[in-house]
Amino acid sequence: MKAAVFLKGKGLVIEEVPTPEAGEDGVLVKVADTGFCGSDHSLLESGLLSDGVILGHEVSGVVWDRGKQENLLPDGSRIIIRPTFCGQCRECRMGKPYLCQVKRRTIGIGDLPGGFAEYLRVYPRMLIPIPDGVDSRNAALAETFASALHGIKCAKSEGGSVLVMGGGPIGLASVRIFKILGFGPVALSEPIEKKRDLGKRFGADFVLDPFKENMIQQTQEWTHGVGFETILECSGVPDNVPLAFNLTARGGSVCIVSIMFKGFSVNQPMFLNFKEFALTGSYSNTHEENIRCLAWMAEGKIDARKMITDLVSLDQLPQVYQERIHPGKAIKVIVKIGEEF
Ligand SMILES: [Zn+2]
Ligand SMILES: [Zn+2]
Repeated sequence: MKAAVFLKGKGLVIEEVPTPEAGEDGVLVKVADTGFCGSDHSLLESGLLSDGVILGHEVSGVVWDRGKQENLLPDGSRIIIRPTFCGQCRECRMGKPYLCQVKRRTIGIGDLPGGFAEYLRVYPRMLIPIPDGVDSRNAALAETFASALHGIKCAKSEGGSVLVMGGGPIGLASVRIFKILGFGPVALSEPIEKKRDLGKRFGADFVLDPFKENMIQQTQEWTHGVGFETILECSGVPDNVPLAFNLTARGGSVCIVSIMFKGFSVNQPMFLNFKEFALTGSYSNTHEENIRCLAWMAEGKIDARKMITDLVSLDQLPQVYQERIHPGKAIKVIVKIGEEF
């Protein structure tokens, strides 16, 4: 089969590799679409990947061969793929399977081979069925929306004003889900005009360019001097964290969804005292959150396809990575691999 393989010194290379088999405890999936995630970009640039790794974790496809798994969804079932977990360790028992350290298995992030390939072998517990009315491109992006929903849950807010910092895929997905959940007003700060426009299409009440407009003044105006009740940091810019301390309301909540590799300094830590706001982070997402987002897609409340800027074939991926993804020109890339549905 054909796959985009990582090779040291070369990056992504299209190669012919052996097609995996379902084996004793696995299931073979034929890939339809795979989304290119910001974390794929970070992994490719990290220097941590070994030769031969196949990335890609935002996958839609069909069950091609269920091997020895007789009670599984029938062959041909439309599915997305999410990580497994042990269900027994401290983290799993806390209801946080995404923090499982025992038997958490993942595809496409350096553990098992991922979805930038025609087929992949997965464990049965990784499969989530796609409801009727959801196409393969939307389904591949359910995970992006589930990550946004997870961030919103970690913030533990129930409603009110919102600021989303950063209009990448997870920021845009957050805007949409805040609107579905009835939060408002929802503001998006994002320096790139095209992403601000998409933010409006996903339902943002206000958008602003943080490089050109005064965030503190705008916050005062939009929240009538209260500050934002919830702030989600989705840009990966470390200096946004101390800024969020300034912009949040008393008793508000700040959640860092983006994964930051550089530090920040807090010049006014007393905001933590005077405002008693909650500061937290979020990581990954759960099966339930993916199922919720797929259901919203089926109900027509989410159309993730609006954020797709590049629809490419597997053969085109290495070039698109160099020309569009690495320089930050693409918002969301979908790699069209098998038959779509
Ligand atoms: Zn992802
Ligand atoms: Zn566990």
